[in-house]
Amino acid sequence: MSDHDHSHEHPAAAEHGTNSGGWLRPAVFGVSDGLVSNAALVLGVAAGQASGHIVLLAGVSGLLAGAFSMAAGEWVSVLAERESFELELRREAEHIRRYPDEESAHMRRILRDAGLPADLTDHLVAELRERPEANLDFHARVELGIDPTNLSSPAVAATSSFLAFALGAAVPLLPWLQASTDLAVELSIGLSALALFSVGALLARFTGRHPAWSGARQLLIGSAAAGVTTVIGAWIGA
Ligand SMILES: [Zn+2]
Repeated sequence: MSDHDHSHEHPAAAEHGTNSGGWLRPAVFGVSDGLVSNAALVLGVAAGQASGHIVLLAGVSGLLAGAFSMAAGEWVSVLAERESFELELRREAEHIRRYPDEESAHMRRILRDAGLPADLTDHLVAELRERPEANLDFHARVELGIDPTNLSSPAVAATSSFLAFALGAAVPLLPWLQASTDLAVELSIGLSALALFSVGALLARFTGRHPAWSGARQLLIGSAAAGVTTVIGAWIGA
């Protein structure tokens, strides 16, 4: 759906100092995507004088189509990233096996460049050579910037983006399960506006903006999207 969904597979690296563990940020973006996308869809179809049943049908389809699309995108992206990391790890292991002296010299140079004294780096590198597993782990972290014990899972990424999008997309849809058409439109607008503002306020956690400002901005963006589809829906429906 949008590019930012594939840009935060490494939340752990970016989230030092927070206890959100890295999952909160992509989850909030996923919820926001589902919310904006389905609020615009539902209100656009409703503006075209569609029956409550048709609006519900369109909204459920929009929820599922969007959630599957997000999950598929996330799956492909995380899988490709994981495979490239695994390839790099295999290459590094092969290097260490075939050229242990060159690899040790390289590591010594990196550690000295980082400011560690020579006797310490010599000792550390010698100790690591006694422990092949720890050695590969260390090379992966220091040389490749990869944490081999914490590679992202495509299944987890796909499932969580599916659920996040579906959660956001369900908000504008809920009133259509019960209410009459007029009331459902109003409830749908009200719930979506409330959710947009809340999601925006949550996003302020990652941007350092004021929550009220961030919430208002998100509300404005969602309203613009829904405004466009409402005008087009009313025009086509008339
Ligand atoms: Zn190496």
